Amino acid sequence: NGRKTAVARKLSMEMEEKNESRILVFVRLRPMSKKEKEVGSRCCVKIVNKKDVYLTEFGNENDYLRLKRLKGRHFTFDASIPDSSTQYEVYTTTTAELVEAVLQGRNGSVFCYGATGAGKTHTMLGTIDNPGVMVLAIKDLFAKIRQRSFDGNHVVHLSYLEVYNETVRDLLSPGRPLVLREDKQGIAAAGLTQYRAYSTDEVMALLQRGNQNRTTEPTRANETSSRSHAILQVVVEYRVKDVSMNVINRVGKLSLIDLAGSERALATDQRTLRSLEGANINRSLLALSSCINALVERKKHIPYRNSKLTQLLKDSLGGACNTVMIANISPSNVSFGETQNTLHWADRAKEIRTKTCETNEEVLELPEARAVDQTNLVLELQKE
Ligand code: ADP
Ligand code: MG
Repeated sequence: NGRKTAVARKLSMEMEEKNESRILVFVRLRPMSKKEKEVGSRCCVKIVNKKDVYLTEFGNENDYLRLKRLKGRHFTFDASIPDSSTQYEVYTTTTAELVEAVLQGRNGSVFCYGATGAGKTHTMLGTIDNPGVMVLAIKDLFAKIRQRSFDGNHVVHLSYLEVYNETVRDLLSPGRPLVLREDKQGIAAAGLTQYRAYSTDEVMALLQRGNQNRTTEPTRANETSSRSHAILQVVVEYRVKDVSMNVINRVGKLSLIDLAGSERALATDQRTLRSLEGANINRSLLALSSCINALVERKKHIPYRNSKLTQLLKDSLGGACNTVMIANISPSNVSFGETQNTLHWADRAKEIRTKTCETNEEVLELPEARAVDQTNLVLELQKE
């Protein structure tokens, strides 16, 4: 164990030298559902401690010592979140730190990954009574802004978009598909609604409405499609004065992503990957797995251009961004194959290195910007 710690320390020092940081990977286990209980599901996953998950095909109870005698596999993550956890605990474990960084002008992304029914939308959006990471992040963001500014020089904009069948749509004002364009800040959807948000209260309703605009598959009326990816972007713009009284504009972007169901779409080896590609199964998720592979293998060329999703996630995966992956899993043995697949990709994502996130800032010389209340600016500068 001591040796393990030493190795980890050496690795993190090397990463610091190279200006790299790691994707943080979390697993969230959801409770067994009524339906799963009804069909007599057995539990095949056990969260052993704060970091380890144990998966076995033949489990039949929650007793870890008994499960351990069966043949299975351990996985270790930055945290493994048990089924008893609250939405708030999930938020603080996975995302709270990113919100803090975004306020300082850095970029952050959180994506939920897993099979349909594993709990991605519950984790990201949640319900009115039990809101998820998207809402809790915005609530926390506004609370932090209130704490530190009295003059309203933070501006928050939201966009909510969907990628379905390689088409990008605006979930806040549905209409014609959007075109992706590359500018100096990265890839963006042209014409996407930027909703100026003033408080948390309006946001939950807005997101719920947006979610109803997600594409539903004809065969599953009323159910949001298992093949659509939803991306919430929160952009925080902030003006401060530096010591020489220049006005500095800082922009931080937080992307919160509810991915399509990973079942069928992701194969663990390249051969099945290629055969699936022919079958035109969720191209964006396939492209995501190819990008993860290429990033892990440190290839020169990362195939972001293969899909809309990977173009939109380029920053989060290979750019200067703090990135978090939440892998959602069901405890039921009925989902064993999917859970195994999810844990495989989550385990692989741990190897991805992103560039250490820098502050996005630019010096402005706008006369109106100079009118910003100076006492607050001094307070801000002292804090830093
Ligand atoms: P996904 O978006 O991955 O397809 P959902 O988030 O829609 O899955 O979850 C499927 C069902 O399980 C929903 O009815 C949801 O309310 C429920 N569920 C998911 N995660 C949890 C959880 N942690 N606690 C309670 N219920 C959950
Ligand atoms: Mg969902």
